[in-house]
Formats: sequence, C-alpha cells, structure tokens
Amino acid sequence: MQHFNSIEMNVNRRRIMQAGASAAVGALTLASATAQAGQNPARQPASGSAKPKEARFWLTNVTLEDGFERGAENQVLSTKTRKAHLLIENGKIMSIAESRPADGLPQYDMKQSLALPSFADMHIHLDKGHYGGPWKAAVPFVSVAQRIKEEEGFLVPFLADTPKKAKALIDLSTSFGTTHMRVQCNVDPVQGLRNKDKVLEALTAYRDKIDFDMVAFPQHGLLKHVKLMDEAMRNGFNIVGGLDPTSIDGDVERSLNTTMELAVKHNAPIDMHLHEPGAQGASVISRLAKLTEDAGWQGRVTVSHAYCLGQLKGNPILDEVLSRMAAVKMQVISTAPIDTPAPPVKELASKGIMLHLATDCINDHWSAYGSGSMIERASRLGEINGWDDEYSLNRALKYITRGVAPLDDQGKVVWPKVGDNADLTFVAASCSAELVARRNPVDAVLRRGKASVWNI
Ligand SMILES: [Zn+2]
Repeated sequence: MQHFNSIEMNVNRRRIMQAGASAAVGALTLASATAQAGQNPARQPASGSAKPKEARFWLTNVTLEDGFERGAENQVLSTKTRKAHLLIENGKIMSIAESRPADGLPQYDMKQSLALPSFADMHIHLDKGHYGGPWKAAVPFVSVAQRIKEEEGFLVPFLADTPKKAKALIDLSTSFGTTHMRVQCNVDPVQGLRNKDKVLEALTAYRDKIDFDMVAFPQHGLLKHVKLMDEAMRNGFNIVGGLDPTSIDGDVERSLNTTMELAVKHNAPIDMHLHEPGAQGASVISRLAKLTEDAGWQGRVTVSHAYCLGQLKGNPILDEVLSRMAAVKMQVISTAPIDTPAPPVKELASKGIMLHLATDCINDHWSAYGSGSMIERASRLGEINGWDDEYSLNRALKYITRGVAPLDDQGKVVWPKVGDNADLTFVAASCSAELVARRNPVDAVLRRGKASVWNI
C-alpha cells in the first residue's frame, strides 16, 4: 500500500524529530513543524492538532493490517491493509467500524496512520543514568565487579537528579511508542531503597503514559543483602531480580534458592540478569529451571541477556537447556546485542520459548549508547538474523509488543479486537514489515486511550 504520498513527508518529519533532540520530541507537534516548514498541506490537521482529551471519541482513517498477499507458491509477498475507524471509550477499543461514524462523538483524523499494539521495553534501568543531564560517556569497562565498585562512589550523589533523569528517559521511550516498561532498579547497601523512591516518583507522575513492573535488582549481590531484598519486595517492587549467581554471589545453589524463596514468599515472578558464559550460564539456567519446577513457578521466571545461549549455538548443550526452559515456560529478554552472541531466535522459537526485546541501559554508567527506541531493537534483531522478506519482518514486531501482533503466523487478523485496551502506537508506515525495516517515525501514542504523543 502507498502510505499517504509521502516519502518526502517522512524525511521531513524525521529531520524535525532529530532536531527536536530526544525528550523534546514528544512536545513538537507535526502540525506546527510542517507549518514552519511550509510543506504538505494534505497532512495538516483540519482543526488544529489538539490531541483527544475526552473519555469517548473516534480515531478515524486508521490503517489496520488485514492479512498477507501470497504468491504462486504460497509465499508472503506483501501485507494487506484496510481502513477502519476505532471508537475509544474509557481506555478501551469499543468499536471497529468500516464506515465513517455519524454519532456526534468527537473524531480525530489519523490520516491513514498504521495502528499497532503499543510497545513494551522489557528491561530498562531508569536509575544510575546520565541521560536527562549533561552528556557523559561511560568510563572504560574492566569488569562487572569493577563497575559495581565504581557505582558505590556515585549512587548517593546521583539521587537528587534521578526523578528528572528518569522522566527524560520515559519521555524518550514514549516518543518512540513504548507504553510499558519492566524497570530494573538497584537494591543495594549503598543507597538502600532510595533509588526505588526516586524512580517511582517519576513513574507515578507519568502514570498516564506508562505501565510498569518494578524488578528489585541486587546489583551488588544478593546473598549479603537478603534482608534488604526482602524489605524491597514489601515496598514497591513486584518482581525479584538476580545477578550472576556464580560470579557475583559465589554460591549458585544458595543464591538461586534464596531468589526462589523470596519469589515464593512474596508471590512474585523472577527476572535474573545472567551474563555468565557458555556451559556455566547454561548450568545456572538448568538449575533455575529445576527450582522453578519444584516451586510450581512455571511461566513466572525470566532470564535477561542469557548470552550463554548464543555462545552455545551448535552445541548439544543448547538443545538440552532450551528443553528445560521450555518445560517450565521460562522466558528470555534480550537487547539484540550486536557486539556479542545473543540468544538464538530460531532455536528459542522451535521450543516455543518466548523472547522479548529491551533497551536495558541508555546512556548511563554501564553503556554510553541507546536511543530508547523499541522499533530500533526490532529492526536490529531483523538485521542480525538476516530477515529481509516481508513475512520475517512482519513477525519481528511481536518481540516488542509482548507477543501481540495484528496478524498471527498464518496471517489471520487477531488484533485489535473490541474490548482490547486502547494501548496504541500509530506509525507512518504502510505495514509492520516496513516499520521494522525502515524504522519509520511515530505519529501518535495512546495508553488506555490517553494520548501521550501526538505528532499527527
Ligand atoms: Zn540490566
């Protein structure tokens, strides 16, 4: 499908967005920007660019994916789309109409923008960052242990600016279509639970923009600070974190058992940072899978990073550990790294193991890099895996939407449905495949029917 008329428009908008510099992007409306540039009157809103504020309104002229166009050998050639109008009511999609509504409710013209389920960043650190303050690169990396030592020197002085910086990161993420974050937040003996208070201050102020989970992350180790972790789980966290039980805690068995005990005590899922390599990492995962089974924690345990799975590609150990993970519905979160082997997508999928993408660190003490865009992460996953065809690119979207996509693997429409939450990201792309390949700009973002980004 031809989207508007408008490669030029996209280029123009991209330039404007780049000029808007990060967090300010969301504040700059497309209408004002195009008026300044004096271009493309067809894209100008008829009645200003006010975003919806009502509890009931229509989003008209929305593009929805409608199936696959297939070739002679049943291969997917392109993605079919259709025009629809969405009734948003009290945060939900309450009607999907073919013909233009005439019920007198307010209407907002989406100008054929493509509607997608909004994005989830499944592993992000909002504390300890530089973003939102003056530019600062990370110091050269020596080891995880050395990084932890360095942290001890700045955790407390950083606290005052943490809410401001966390808000800047949330603004950045939402400007790229994210409405859900799994937030990893330090629980350590240097600042205790104060990082959590500061991060929650920002998340609470932005509750109309973002849903979140809070992972109690024992960055400085678990075993020496179990009481603090226990206190954390009673005060604002809902997921038990973990970190490299062999190299950081030095006692895999006790570390994993303690993690599971905390999870069971607080009836919480687990999300463990695991950087440990090869067979060592695989053995940690296998042990965690066994504890998961014993505790009846199936479907509630996630391993973040899990580089070991990438390093073991082609090794029979991989198949064994993936089978154990699949048996307890363990999930994997990855940043789609380009500097190290990542969990192999095909092998995970063949076992039915769910993979989610994440940004992790965005210009903080651990990494100078990071754009905040989940679109970029999906695109990067596609590039790493050589996904150039329409079907593979289309399937890439689900890694940034917690598995929800407009079409299922067969091309049947499964989203949106009447009654779904109005968590929507509108993009200037003709289909998901184009978005993943071209990383098109975001037109609008709604969380539970409330618009946080409105560039349309
Ligand atoms: Zn992390």
